[in-house]
Amino acid sequence: MDITNSEKLYKEAQEHIVGGVNSPSRAYKGVGGGTPIFMEKAKGAHFWDVDGNKYIDYLGAYGPIITGHGHPHIAESITNAAHNGVLYGTPTALENKFAKMLKEAIPSMDKVRFVNSGTEAVMTTIRVARAYTNRNKIIKFAGSYHGHSDLVLVAAGSGPSTLGTPDSAGIPSSIAEDVITVPFNEIEPFKEALDKWGGQIAAVLVEPIVGNFGIVEPNEGFLEEVKTLTHNAGSLLIFDEVITGFRFTYGSAQQLLHVEPDMTALGKIIGGGLPIGAYGGRVDIMEQVAPLGPAYQAGTMAGNPASMAAGIACLEVLQEDGVYEKLDRLGAKLENGILERAEKHGIHITINRLKGALTVFFTDEKVENYDQAEATNKEQFGTFFKLMLDQGINLAPSKFEAWFLTIAHTDEDIEQTLKAVDYSFEQMAV
Ligand code: PMP
Repeated sequence: MDITNSEKLYKEAQEHIVGGVNSPSRAYKGVGGGTPIFMEKAKGAHFWDVDGNKYIDYLGAYGPIITGHGHPHIAESITNAAHNGVLYGTPTALENKFAKMLKEAIPSMDKVRFVNSGTEAVMTTIRVARAYTNRNKIIKFAGSYHGHSDLVLVAAGSGPSTLGTPDSAGIPSSIAEDVITVPFNEIEPFKEALDKWGGQIAAVLVEPIVGNFGIVEPNEGFLEEVKTLTHNAGSLLIFDEVITGFRFTYGSAQQLLHVEPDMTALGKIIGGGLPIGAYGGRVDIMEQVAPLGPAYQAGTMAGNPASMAAGIACLEVLQEDGVYEKLDRLGAKLENGILERAEKHGIHITINRLKGALTVFFTDEKVENYDQAEATNKEQFGTFFKLMLDQGINLAPSKFEAWFLTIAHTDEDIEQTLKAVDYSFEQMAV
């Protein structure tokens, strides 16, 4: 059989780029390996690969793409920014405009600072919380990914009172001593951790709605209780809204859930597809940041006009009437359609969906925490992923990821996707 252009490019990529990819999940490790498809062009809800195949995209670039690829308003804003010079190293009016938009959307942020990635945003919120509280340790929740900075790449030990161990080589175990990991959606282990370490906890870091072991919503009252206990311990509450920011509603997860944190980290959607991160919070906390305060954070690329312009344009699109209603309607259609076909073919699945984002877990059980997500069937997901890809449906290559809808998806896209789901489940049932 002829070798495909993706296969050729992957071979070449492996000669020059470590592992052939610039982010590990792109190498299909989550679905048992294989040649990643090299995409050439994207428009609306669709991708075209280097072999001329067309796909419906549900990866959404792991979250940033909510308006659809190549949205004309965003594209035009980026083009204009490019013509005016993409990087100044000076302040610009665009930064003010965008900061105001973010603050209006998310009122818990009195002051913001732009950075270049979600990793940087989260990393800095922790530094600022440590500076503010004069404490070192953090609590985070098992299974949530908060970027690749040292402190948050630490996983749980065997229980809440055990300190973590690094998840990656190259992270000193001394760093892991400052991280306590507890299960999401369970208040008792969280309380135990606070009882044991409370006076040393600078911050509690949480994805208010989890996006990193599938879409998992907090149980009724969970975040409220986390917030109260966190504040009772004299610690700060940080929401990592890198995925959830502007994903489910314009005011982000904190508005949807009516729980406001002390600090928020943003990324992904707010860059309209260009590199970005932002963090913000209460004014007395943010005043810890240089040049006002002793917590240092800087960036050559931070607040660059291209990312600002793309982000402003993206948010302008999201302000239009009916955006989130459309995402919800299409999400419901997709969810119901997948469930119907699973039942028809006797495939056991659970779908966690919130508006235009959903995760299909191969299990009979509900999924409310990382252990339950981990226990779902990885092999079945891998088979499903490949069957879908062969039929032109591009999903994220991991059972832990979400399907992200965009406002560019149409009813026709959903119907075509459901046909592919039907065939995939039929194949999997035999
Ligand atoms: N926080 C969360 C919740 C994320 O999902 C991610 C990335 N998937 C990050 C932080 C890191 O963002 P980035 O990849 O932009 O550094």
